[in-house]
Amino acid sequence: MLKDFVSNATLLIASFSIMGVLFKDKPLHTSSPLSTKLYWGLCFGILGNVLMAFSIQINSSTIADLRHLAIVIAAIFGGYIPGLLAAILIAAGRIILFGINESSVLGSFGAILIGILCGGLSNINISRTLKAFLMNLIGLFIISIIFMIRIDNSQVLQNVLIMQSIISLIGGFFAYHFFVFVVNSYEVQTQLKQNVQKLQETEERFRLLAEYSSDMITMHNEKAEYIYISPAVKEIIHFEYPELLGKRMDDFIHPEDIEYTKKMFEKALHKGVAESTYRYRTNIGDYVWIESTLKSVHFEEDGSKKVIIVSRNITDRKLTEQKLQEANELLNRLSYMDGLTGIANRRYFDEILDKEWANSVSTHSPITLIMFDIDYFKKYNDTYGHLTGDFCLQSIAQAINNQMAVNSHYTFCRYGGEEFALISPSITIEEGMKIAYQIQETIKALKIPHINSEIADIVTLSIGIATMVPTSFEKPQALMQMADSALYLSKTKGRNTISSSHLCLEGL
Ligand code: GH3
Ligand code: MG
Ligand code: MG
Repeated sequence: MLKDFVSNATLLIASFSIMGVLFKDKPLHTSSPLSTKLYWGLCFGILGNVLMAFSIQINSSTIADLRHLAIVIAAIFGGYIPGLLAAILIAAGRIILFGINESSVLGSFGAILIGILCGGLSNINISRTLKAFLMNLIGLFIISIIFMIRIDNSQVLQNVLIMQSIISLIGGFFAYHFFVFVVNSYEVQTQLKQNVQKLQETEERFRLLAEYSSDMITMHNEKAEYIYISPAVKEIIHFEYPELLGKRMDDFIHPEDIEYTKKMFEKALHKGVAESTYRYRTNIGDYVWIESTLKSVHFEEDGSKKVIIVSRNITDRKLTEQKLQEANELLNRLSYMDGLTGIANRRYFDEILDKEWANSVSTHSPITLIMFDIDYFKKYNDTYGHLTGDFCLQSIAQAINNQMAVNSHYTFCRYGGEEFALISPSITIEEGMKIAYQIQETIKALKIPHINSEIADIVTLSIGIATMVPTSFEKPQALMQMADSALYLSKTKGRNTISSSHLCLEGL
């Protein structure tokens, strides 16, 4: 009898595997569609009948088997509908297979009762395992009552009840857990399939994005070798895809940009992200400007890190930027330049005087300002014409500019009209005097004729010098005032003269 019970239980478990395969796309849940519940109910009904066909004959009209487990499992997983459908089919099968007699009617009634009770229990909100245990007990209880009615021999009854209880509880336990395993494994498989499909779709989307992007997308290993290159490579750097594969990025970068790009690659590798602008040698041999965004990606499968680089050609933009920068520099230079003489203008004078003044204040060093004015220049214009006057201004400016160019600390400017100024930081009044003499000598050496000058027959200068060791309480205007006063002094002394705030020396 034990052997028959075990083969009954084996049949039950084997059937679950087959049902799992048959309905792998229609998992049984209380929320499954009605058609799915009906399929499963039908299957469990057939299973119950098969179990009955291989049942254990206890006496001429009494059989024992595990058919109630088919109803229990159907009700646990699918609820009322499959549970009851399986019960009805089993009840019908009991009568069809074994004919109408007291035993088959009782058996059929028992099956329907199990179906109704298990269906009712399936709606109760308790754990599925507890539900399975309770349903199994209900089934066992109803079957035991039928046995008690049908079996008169108390010894046989006792044996059958013990056997039925053991097999029912053990078989029920295994049948339930095996069915859970079947359901779960097919759900995991379905989930896996869906995930693989989603992954394939995502991969396809990203492949299309990479391949149709006008930006060049490349992937590099930690040695900066190319391991993926998008088709835009052809358009941007005129290479064919296989030509770069396995090669290092550095092999194509302008020598001046290699160190910088290496640093950016390392930064992306270790800090996650970096940006870089550099020159790249194309297949034609010329260089193009490339702007790249680098991002590192960690691959968990092999623990490796890769760097994904999105690059675009910015040569046109770079050239425009360069031209704009040159234009700005030119504009800047022009804004500080005197148009007639080509030397620095008054605007530049004001800025440099402020700067040198602040410097002298902080270093407690002297600052000397030399101002000079062409004597009788109105008469020069009247005599030789305005254009010759312009030329005279240019000659004087260039001569002094060349003389002062040897010392980059001096700033020589056209102060306005026929007046010039020289800012000389860190020199004393005596050194300033020497420079003033040199300037006077330079102009004398030019020998520019000025027949209507009242002081000489050539163009001469009147010079004023002022020196201060400034403090933060004074302003640069104080120095300008002093130099202007000294210049005025030179004019009143008769011109062609060098004067300082304290000193007045005759020239020529
Ligand atoms: P002083 O010796 O007192 O300096 O007499 P001055 O005639 O030089 O001085 P004044 O201020 O009376 O005249 C300056 C002249 O400089 C008048 C102006 O026409 C001339 N001047 C100023 N700027 C320019 C210029 O850019 N080109 C030319 N050709 N002349 C200029
Ligand atoms: Mg003047
Ligand atoms: Mg003058």
